[in-house]
Amino acid sequence: METPPRDLRFETKAIHAGQDPDPVYGAVNVPIYQTSTYAQPAVGQPKVWDYGRGGNPTREAFQQALAALEGGARCFAFASGLGASTTLLLTLQPGDHVLLSNDVYGGTYRLLTKVLSGWGLACDTVDLADPAALAAALRPTTRLVWLETPSNPLLKIVDIRAVAAAAHQAGARVVVDNTFATPALQRPLELGADVVLHSVTKYISGHSGLIGGAVITSDAALIERLGFLTNAVGAVPGPMDCYLALRGLKTLAVRMRAHCEGAAAVADFLAAHAKVTRVYYPGLPGHPGREIAADQMSDFGGMVSFEVATGAEALRIAERTRLFFLAESLGGVESLIEVPGPMTHASVAGSPLEVLDSLIRLSVGIEHPDDLIADLLQALG
Ligand SMILES: *Cc1c(COP(=O)(O)O)cnc(C)c1O
Repeated sequence: METPPRDLRFETKAIHAGQDPDPVYGAVNVPIYQTSTYAQPAVGQPKVWDYGRGGNPTREAFQQALAALEGGARCFAFASGLGASTTLLLTLQPGDHVLLSNDVYGGTYRLLTKVLSGWGLACDTVDLADPAALAAALRPTTRLVWLETPSNPLLKIVDIRAVAAAAHQAGARVVVDNTFATPALQRPLELGADVVLHSVTKYISGHSGLIGGAVITSDAALIERLGFLTNAVGAVPGPMDCYLALRGLKTLAVRMRAHCEGAAAVADFLAAHAKVTRVYYPGLPGHPGREIAADQMSDFGGMVSFEVATGAEALRIAERTRLFFLAESLGGVESLIEVPGPMTHASVAGSPLEVLDSLIRLSVGIEHPDDLIADLLQALG
């Protein structure tokens, strides 16, 4: 009788899932299979894949590892987070409706309102933290409810279980963009979501070294359609990026512990600073989503936003930090600072997703928190 597979813990899966030593030489790192095609032993009988768009061993290892960490049956990797979103949205039909949380990633909003709307997909934004608003916004044609928690840049928390229950009752699937939390802190599929999406660019790869995306699901019908579309649409990542993403994934748990520790210290420091008028961090007492976050996440994440008196003051602070680099993006080992209004959120100015210009967003890296706080102290002046 076979012994049942041991239920390995998260940190162990990150090192071992999909990553057996190479059968020929025993290399402990999955090799970079830098190939576009595969020699076939006979016509129409490829060993595994016939062509590199359809699959690649390095990509496959990354996909298996990330699927294991999210607790999903399959993961599909893409060349960017938006490539992942586009391919996922192409599983829909003209006339279908997508419900977005009202502070969804600006690129997702732009994709739906400025690209896919022309192909017949309808979308609305709604405050998913408000059950009555969600119930009113669901339509008979709603196929997907799309949320981020914590959200960007206000770190709003949405109750994944509650949204999943309401969406499922209306016949819609739930997509959670888990880029901010990562599976180290939050596993949406275990909370009732149908699909998890990542910008691999951020915490999953973790070193600001590549652009990538991923979709994870256990839904058999969706797996079949996504398998077809991945190859048919072709927004796939190269083997080198998959190798780097997999290397990053191995240390996700330890990096997230350091990100969370640093962010909590930075949030406490900001909350006590006279020039800071408001701090957004789900772990702070008084944050409206703190209880739900504590329930569905194992820690509060590495992102912190805060407000100062004016937009001009926000710009001055963001240009004065030395350790926090002034840059868009997030989730790397190095700390970043940005002013969402004129930077990451410029494309949503005038839309329901517009943000205050006096808001600053921090991606707290894994440097020593004391050094980061000293840097913010001198920048706040
Ligand atoms: C960056 C980001 C995306 C888009 O991913 P790309 O890799 O930049 O295409 C989607 N969602 C969230 C929450 C993001 O931060």
